[in-house]
Formats: sequence, C-alpha cells, structure tokens
Amino acid sequence: MSIAKNIEKLQKNIENLPERNGKVSIIAVTKMVDIAKAKQVIDAGLNILGENRVQEFLNKYEKLNNYASFHLIGHLQTNKIKYLIGKCQLIHSVDSVKLLQEIEKQCVKKQCEQQILIQVNISNEESKFGISEKDLISIINTNESNEWVKIKGLMTIAPFEENSEDIRWVFRRLNELYIDIKGKTFYNTDMEFLSMGMSNDYQIAIEEGANMIRIGSKIFT
Ligand SMILES: *Cc1c(COP(=O)(O)O)cnc(C)c1O
Repeated sequence: MSIAKNIEKLQKNIENLPERNGKVSIIAVTKMVDIAKAKQVIDAGLNILGENRVQEFLNKYEKLNNYASFHLIGHLQTNKIKYLIGKCQLIHSVDSVKLLQEIEKQCVKKQCEQQILIQVNISNEESKFGISEKDLISIINTNESNEWVKIKGLMTIAPFEENSEDIRWVFRRLNELYIDIKGKTFYNTDMEFLSMGMSNDYQIAIEEGANMIRIGSKIFT
C-alpha cells in the first residue's frame, strides 16, 4: 500500500470514532524514514511531523520546514535542548523539572516561546519515561514562575500488551488528569492537547479522549 492510501485509511478510521476532546490531529512519526518518504506524507495532507531524536529532527527540519511543522516526541537530554528552540512547534516529552528549566533557560537566550506537553508515566513501568502522576501538579506549579514555556497538555506512552484493551485504563486515567487540570487555573498552562495513542492503540486512545495521536508504522507499512 502507498503512504497516501495508508493515510486515507487512517483518516477514515478516525472519522468513525467518537471525538471526546475535539478534533483529532495526526502527528506523522517520521523517525528512521527518509526525506522523500516524509515529503510524501506532507503531499498526502499531513503537515505535522514527529521525530524522536534531535539530530534527525534537525536534518528533516532543514529540508522540510517550509512544508511542515515539527514536533519532538522522544526522550530528551538537557544538552540537546538548545538546538530545538525556535524550530520545534511542540515538545511532547518533558518529564522532569530539570528539563523544563533548561527549556526556559534556552528560551530566555533566544527570547522565544516554547510550547510543551508533560509526559506522564501512568503505568509506572520502570522502562518508560515520564513524570509520575504524583509529581504532575508540582511541575505545573514550577512553570508558573517561568516566562517563555507554555504547557499545552499531557502525553503518555502506553505499555505494550497482547490485548490492547488492557491498556484502556492508562488512557482513561490520563484523560481524567487532563480534565482535572483543565478545570483549574494555572499560569502558563492551558490544556489543549491530549497526546496519546500510536499505531497499535490509537483507536482506544481516541475513545478515551485523545485529540492528538502519534502514528508511524501504520503510515509507512
Ligand atoms: C515511534 C513512536 C511513535 C509511533 O509509533 P508507531 O507504533 O510506529 O505508530 C509514537 N510515539 C513515540 C514517542 C514514538 O517514539
């Protein structure tokens, strides 16, 4: 199947699902995909590309930033942040106060705002990145004193399960936290995006409230 066909099929599937937190945006995850294929994604109508490594992000950005916006979805080290500011529309994977404060510091240098999501480790798997639920409000509080970093929502990666129904609770829980925070007032935080769901579990994620999904293999196979 072609990339364009895969995208069309994905969009049709999504149309048939209930949208609980508004319209669903698809982030096309182009990690390990070449520039030509990434361009085909854009030509097929998706204009947000997600990358998980900073170097690959920069390569794609250089070639394609006239045609698409870029999101960083993978785990980040503080020493790489400086390369992203001003180029990355949304960072999905902020999972520590240390990372948050480094982003603010680099934003101050560039006098440039940065939108981020907080990655939450709902399932508490040791292998997964993400802040634990109990530290979520505290990182949001810390960001109230910042000037340039804007928290726009939450992100999670569900653990792999043979039966994808077994992860429904993870998405449900993140949506509860999202709605709870949305109902409160925090300076510099505005819950707009709930980023959850990948190729194997996006349907469940949307049923549980995702309005941003990150899709790689379903597009490229
Ligand atoms: C690779 C990746 C995805 C996409 O995964 P697929 O299963 O290929 O759709 C989504 N989110 C993150 C954080 C990723 O690293």
